[in-house]
Amino acid sequence: MNQLPDKKWVCNVCGFSSTGAEPPESCPQCGTDRDHFEEAHPGAKRYLIIGAGVAGVSAAEAIRQSDPEGSLVLLSEEPEPPYFRMNLTRYLAGELDSSKLDLHPRTWFLDKRIELRLNSKAVDIDPRERRVVLSDGRVFPYDTLILTNGSSPFVPPFPGANLPGVQTLRTLRDANQILEVCSKPVDVVCIGGGLLGLETAGAISKRGARVSVVESLPWLLPRQLDQAASAILQQKIEAMGIKVYTAAKTQALVGSDHVTGVQLEGGPLLPADLVIISAGVSANLDLARKAGLSVNRGILVDDSMRSSDPHIFAAGDVCEHQGRMYGLWLPAKAQGGVAGLAAAGMPGVFAGDPPSARLKVLGIDLFSIGQFTPSESADVLLVDKTESAYASFLFRSGVLVGSILLGDASLAAPVKSAADAHQDFSAELARGISAAAFKELLKA
Ligand SMILES: Cc1cc2nc3c(=O)[nH]c(=O)nc-3n(C[C@H](O)[C@H](O)[C@H](O)COP(=O)(O)OP(=O)(O)OC[C@H]3O[C@@H](n4cnc5c(N)ncnc54)[C@H](O)[C@@H]3O)c2cc1C
Repeated sequence: MNQLPDKKWVCNVCGFSSTGAEPPESCPQCGTDRDHFEEAHPGAKRYLIIGAGVAGVSAAEAIRQSDPEGSLVLLSEEPEPPYFRMNLTRYLAGELDSSKLDLHPRTWFLDKRIELRLNSKAVDIDPRERRVVLSDGRVFPYDTLILTNGSSPFVPPFPGANLPGVQTLRTLRDANQILEVCSKPVDVVCIGGGLLGLETAGAISKRGARVSVVESLPWLLPRQLDQAASAILQQKIEAMGIKVYTAAKTQALVGSDHVTGVQLEGGPLLPADLVIISAGVSANLDLARKAGLSVNRGILVDDSMRSSDPHIFAAGDVCEHQGRMYGLWLPAKAQGGVAGLAAAGMPGVFAGDPPSARLKVLGIDLFSIGQFTPSESADVLLVDKTESAYASFLFRSGVLVGSILLGDASLAAPVKSAADAHQDFSAELARGISAAAFKELLKA
């Protein structure tokens, strides 16, 4: 009788190894079932990724492109397979249904031998033993770990912030909770007039909610627009029936067993059945701190996304690269790719990215990139403004360092290319080129 050749099997939960034609029915060390055993390839690396957002999935993909042999586990504390987080506002607006949110079909992960573990929250990292402990006690050993565990919404300590009916939008579960409330006409106050706050306001307004936006700074999108552009944007938003309160500080969220309103400092009490807070995010640093990694606002990484521990990389919203936290989709994706390559021993460099933004859901064409307010005396600002559209271009030493396109963002691609390429427009500026003529130049 032909005997099947012996193979070496490793439990990817606790690292126990056994030899035989087949893996054992269950792990004698940790008790997990045979599905957790992988065939060991001598010298194969064990990669572990915590967080299955875009950074984690990109890291996994990059690892598989460079290392087909290693074992690769992707942990997610969320119950759903990885999804397009940035499309949650589109989902909220009814522009997409949940089936269109998946980053990849389940077969993609199977084909690439990426072991996706949902409902798996990491609670501790032991960098000396190189293993990660989950909230349910499972232990995952690693040779190389990538932290892509993202960020969480920041909730300012307003009185009443813990009341039922006060929430944030970060996950699919959050979006579904908001949808449930907005299935009938309700009063909603969105605190925060940044990109997320405005998109959320636009989305639920489309669902029939009566929406107010409260921004504490003097104008909307303070990180993306100057005051002149923001004034045009505000008119457009108000024309949709959304009330906008700028330079409006929230004093308290009021209500006894459920939120009923938002009291503005020295201003009105806005009625609210639901309050959605979009006041920025902060990196999820608990795991990194416990592991003793160097952190500032994010996990500090070098250009290959390596942390202060040579066996641990970090990418996406959780990391800080050259003093910068992006909080954006494309940089998270790019950083994840670099971390994955570097983890697999391939050269990879993240060279930074000028942050750029687009506004979704509201049907308002908007693109903003880099800096838009002059900060050095020799900076040159060109502006082309009409009643409903605005275009500005900021140059430093002849190089385009930032731009706002509102009302017509068709030049977004050439603007981004010029900024990325550090293209020098000194000659055109010396000739006194106007903003309108510069737009023509970009079109050409
Ligand atoms: C509604 C919305 C709209 C957005 N729109 C845009 C946009 O238009 N353009 C843009 O550039 N950016 C946008 N962003 C921001 C963008 O989505 C993020 O920058 C990006 O998702 C960051 O990806 P990430 O993989 O670093 O982190 P995340 O997407 O946050 O993924 C991290 C994952 O790690 C999991 N996790 C955390 N802790 C643990 C743990 N201990 N164990 C296991 N898993 C854990 C989290 O549950 C999460 O699934 C938007 C964000 C939101 C919420």
